[in-house]
Amino acid sequence: MSKQYQKETICIQSGWKPKNGEPRVLPIYQSTTFKYESSEQMGRLFDLEESGYFYTRLQNPTNDYVAAKICELEGGVAAMLTSSGQAATYYAVFNICEAGDHVVMSATVYGGTFNLLTCTMKKMGIECTVVDPDASAEEIGKAFQPNTKCVFAETIANPALVVLDIEKFAKLAHEHQVPLIVDNTFATPINCNPFRWGADIVTHSTTKYMDGHAMAVGGCIVDSGHFDWSAYPDKFPGLCTPDESYHGITYTEKFGKAAYITKATSQLMRDLGSIQSPQNAFLLNVGLETLHLRMERHCYNAGRVAEFLEGHEKVAWVNYPGLKGNRYYELAQKYMPNGTCGVISFGLKGGRQAAAKMMDGLELTSIVTHVADARTSVLHPASHTHRQMNDEQLKEAGVAPDLIRLSVGIEHVDDIIADLQQALSAVD
Ligand code: PLP
Repeated sequence: MSKQYQKETICIQSGWKPKNGEPRVLPIYQSTTFKYESSEQMGRLFDLEESGYFYTRLQNPTNDYVAAKICELEGGVAAMLTSSGQAATYYAVFNICEAGDHVVMSATVYGGTFNLLTCTMKKMGIECTVVDPDASAEEIGKAFQPNTKCVFAETIANPALVVLDIEKFAKLAHEHQVPLIVDNTFATPINCNPFRWGADIVTHSTTKYMDGHAMAVGGCIVDSGHFDWSAYPDKFPGLCTPDESYHGITYTEKFGKAAYITKATSQLMRDLGSIQSPQNAFLLNVGLETLHLRMERHCYNAGRVAEFLEGHEKVAWVNYPGLKGNRYYELAQKYMPNGTCGVISFGLKGGRQAAAKMMDGLELTSIVTHVADARTSVLHPASHTHRQMNDEQLKEAGVAPDLIRLSVGIEHVDDIIADLQQALSAVD
């Protein structure tokens, strides 16, 4: 948008801006391919000499309008949608890492990210050192190696709810001449803009709050345009030296600040093909239109529920960074003063067994793998999302065996509390 609007306005008006006589609502370009009248023009598109659409595996207009909206919300220069949050994480890292390279990652990241970086990408020759996000800069600094290519962390970790000291991590990454990639799924750009604090790349599982209605799996990568890849050509040859698969194009020379996203789109998406379907992008856009309202209500409801749980005799502990006295309250106030997210974790005095009994007794709240939905939902990570981890890894990831993850929805908060109350009353 030419004028800089507030986030609420961007959520609704940005992206698709119809011209005279065009549909008011973002159209779904339900087409795998696009028609041209000259073969020469099509050739120029393939050579990246001209911009335009030719095949939806690489780019589709519906997706691009939605990516543009997320890009504006984050304050970035370029963005792309992916088929899932996992694909976004994978592409964000793989775009600048290859066999023989190394990543520094916060220990408390989402279980799927942990698996991807420590197991699957390891098989591709990319090593990962896991660090305690609360350790001192000096301690974390020891994890860097000459072949380190990026640092990966989450603004608010799922499910440990550790709030990242973004400035500390950005400074460390930059001292070691590499970018900081931050997964901003839980905070969303409504509550936190990691670029403001020095992060270089942001990823999202749009499946979560952005979609918000548990309708469509998706992901997004946004580039701040701040990291100067060309200052370190030996570290980032994929961006700074000719790409033979595109007739010798050098991304940094030809695309400047859009180099990183252009490479991810034209090379990784072309070869690996994890594109978001235009249908899902359309649904995501509907979700984005109310993101600002929903985040406000999620945070309000979660604050009230956290206070209720904290005062309940059967509850052993409550973790919510929006609660005064929480270990991360000050960091949360600094990086997300308007609210954190709707996710709370807590444990019962009766431990793991009591957790299972209480979860089974819930009526309004449902047990689902999902999180960040309009509907209140609950999960036991040690038995579900994090079951691939051993006890030691669970501890490092900040996931206690008795941890219940409660994703507070946007129903009336009194009904959510009443449901928890009745389920807790059945527990010994
Ligand atoms: N990042 C975070 C913080 C997540 O919570 C998740 C999924 O729960 C992912 C990434 C992966 O996203 P997806 O499930 O869309 O692949």
